[in-house]
Amino acid sequence: MDIYIKIEHGHFKTKTIPKFERKCANGHFISTTSNFNYCPECGIEFKEYNKKCKEDYKKLKKEIDEENLTTHKIFKAEALDYCGILGHKKAEQAFLMAWDRGHSSGLTSVVNELEDLASLMS
Ligand SMILES: [Zn+2]
Repeated sequence: MDIYIKIEHGHFKTKTIPKFERKCANGHFISTTSNFNYCPECGIEFKEYNKKCKEDYKKLKKEIDEENLTTHKIFKAEALDYCGILGHKKAEQAFLMAWDRGHSSGLTSVVNELEDLASLMS
C-alpha cells in the first residue's frame, strides 16, 4: 500500500496520553495538584488509593509512550523505504530534516520533504 494512503488511513497515528485524573472511592474528582490525604468533599481517606492512581497512570503513560515510539519507528522505516533511501548513510539526517520541516503539518508533509531530500541523494 502507498505510504500516503496508509497515512490517510491512520496507520501511523500516535495515541494521546489522557489527562491524569484522580478520584476518591466515591467518585469525586480531586485536583491533581492537591496533596490531601482525605477527599475534601466526602472526607474519605484516599492515601493508598491516591498512590495506586499515580502508579496506574504512570504505567499507562509508559505503555502509550512505548507504543507511539514503535509507531514512529515503523513510519520512519516505511518513509525511508518509500523514498528509496532506507539504509543510506545519510538516511537518519534526511529523516530528521524532513521531520523538522514537515511534522507540524502532518506526516504527509514529512514524506513530501523526505522525497525532495531523497532526490538530492545518491
Ligand atoms: Zn469523595
